[in-house]
Amino acid sequence: MELQPREIKQWLLQANQLFQENKDYLTSLDQAIGDGDHGINMARGFQEVKNKIEPTEYTNVSDVLKDTAMTLMSKVGGASGPLFGTAFLKLSTSLKGADNADFQHFAEGISAAGEGLKQRGKAEQGEKTMIDVWLPMAEFLKSQNEFSGDEIESKAKSAMEATKDMSAKKGRAAYLGDRSVGHLDPGSVSSYYLFSTLAEIVKK
Ligand code: ADP
Ligand code: MG
Ligand code: MG
Repeated sequence: MELQPREIKQWLLQANQLFQENKDYLTSLDQAIGDGDHGINMARGFQEVKNKIEPTEYTNVSDVLKDTAMTLMSKVGGASGPLFGTAFLKLSTSLKGADNADFQHFAEGISAAGEGLKQRGKAEQGEKTMIDVWLPMAEFLKSQNEFSGDEIESKAKSAMEATKDMSAKKGRAAYLGDRSVGHLDPGSVSSYYLFSTLAEIVKK
């Protein structure tokens, strides 16, 4: 299976819908261990992504992802804008040169995104950040040879849930240290939304 530009677009537009619907929930997660703006950041950023990509005709997947990356970097304040921007930019770069994304290249792109996040955030796995969803997902995809929506969904969900027991070492939640244990990491929940909508797209 290959993802065409219009399917990548659909993925991002559906993700936007989830960010709008769950804006208050994401904000409440960030109120518990951060500064309470994560829902606002994601909803604003993805609304801008929608405004940019919806009216644009794309002939290759790389360009949709690049516009998404640039929009998130420039429109989202806080840590998450540059981080999600970096992830989408790495994915875009990995997929450069082909019109559509085949599984192999997509999987490599998610790995590159995970590595980009580590570098940009100076974070490791287990430090209660969005990296704790992206890296396990990259590992999982590398072990596969085709898109499997159900498995992508369940992998992303368990990775997101695992952040609850972690003690934050990076980002604002790190100020709380062990008091962050028992709370989900907001950026990991947003990352779950991205992979959960991807799962829906590949199931169609
Ligand atoms: P801010 O913390 O600047 O208010 P957001 O609330 O939008 O930005 O995003 C917070 C999320 O960003 C966290 O839940 C975490 O997943 C992610 N994050 C924060 N710092 C880092 C980092 N250094 N590396 C990776 N992810 C990070
Ligand atoms: Mg915040
Ligand atoms: Mg903030």
